[in-house]
Amino acid sequence: MNALAATNRNFKLASRLLGLDSKLEKSLLIPFREIKVECTIPKDDGTLASFVGFRVQHDNARGPMKGGIRYHPEVEPDEVNALAQLMTWKTAVANIPYGGAKGGIGCDPSKLSISELERLTRVFTQKIHDLIGIHTDVPAPDMGTGPQTMAWILDEYSKFHGYSPAVVTGKPIDLGGSLGRDAATGRGVMFATEALLNEHGKSISGQRFVIQGFGNVGSWAAKLISEQGGKIVAVSDITGAIKNKDGIDIESLLNYTKEHRGVKGFDGAHPIDANSILVEDCDILIPAALGGVINRENANEIKAKFIIEAANHPTDPDADEILSKKGVVILPDIYANSGGVTVSYFEWVQNIQGFMWEEEKVNDELKTYMNRGFKNMKEMCKTHSCDLRMGAFTLGVNRVARATVLRGWGA
Ligand code: GLU
Repeated sequence: MNALAATNRNFKLASRLLGLDSKLEKSLLIPFREIKVECTIPKDDGTLASFVGFRVQHDNARGPMKGGIRYHPEVEPDEVNALAQLMTWKTAVANIPYGGAKGGIGCDPSKLSISELERLTRVFTQKIHDLIGIHTDVPAPDMGTGPQTMAWILDEYSKFHGYSPAVVTGKPIDLGGSLGRDAATGRGVMFATEALLNEHGKSISGQRFVIQGFGNVGSWAAKLISEQGGKIVAVSDITGAIKNKDGIDIESLLNYTKEHRGVKGFDGAHPIDANSILVEDCDILIPAALGGVINRENANEIKAKFIIEAANHPTDPDADEILSKKGVVILPDIYANSGGVTVSYFEWVQNIQGFMWEEEKVNDELKTYMNRGFKNMKEMCKTHSCDLRMGAFTLGVNRVARATVLRGWGA
């Protein structure tokens, strides 16, 4: 099922559980604004290359729209729309005063040089600078982008509007980025896992984990989970997949990937078929890469008892059904990976306050937000007799619906 159809389906199920009026439902579903721009740059060899950039601003009832910018070949309108909508529910689940947005450029960043990436980012910013801003829409990193990308957006934006660090989050620390932001999504995944396991009378220590994706989110989650005594038995990234049933030494793997730009060839584990990573034997599976990877084709083969969705929409609705029949507990993306945007909020607050927080304060606040989100989501599960995905969706949708109704539609 396509990402947008799947996201809309989950939204409608939640809306029905909440008993929302169909007109309100429609108003929540239609994006506030969809932007599509041409981005043409001269390549280093002097030839021209054209790309399509997107920014979908889904909803602003609860505050400025917020969400990442993704550079990936699969960036296309439906995917960006789905991700923007998920951001609206995610910021509401985290209870931070934001709406939702998402953007991206359809490109393969690994095939572009640093200067080509800089030109592409600046051209994209020139096209959207009037439509983003501290109190309107605040971009952040996502797949294929990072602090350097945010620095270029900030610099380009500042040429038009003056220097305003709070216009993007996930910035380098030297430009007003927050301590702890880089690790935040992975750390949030660790706190979320801990909250779920505690509820089942378990702890991270001694559990066997499989992690798909070893980028920013997967690698931080692996590091922090292994520090808590979790055993990471298999990981994968675009270069391949590796397994060690006695547990992979994550510190050594992190050093290895820095040098070799991937997990392939790491000698503290043996190679396995990358396609089988999701069905490897483990207690807890953490998809931390692309969407739609858990589907009708592989859901029946999954051995994990818990799935923690570090990626956005990794599980499609068919798989949701199959897994729930098997008794697999899924911690949904809009809660499980909300640590990133939560610390983005702390960064924005620090920029506006003009006051930097200690890293310990950032991490402590993040833990408070993740634990509160878990509690609120569970309360909705109880109220609506539903699973965790619907608990999170009803929590997020209800908060946005309430804000929308309170603000009214004017005349
Ligand atoms: N890209 C991240 C997400 O999908 C973070 C967004 C943000 O910090 O605004 O949640």
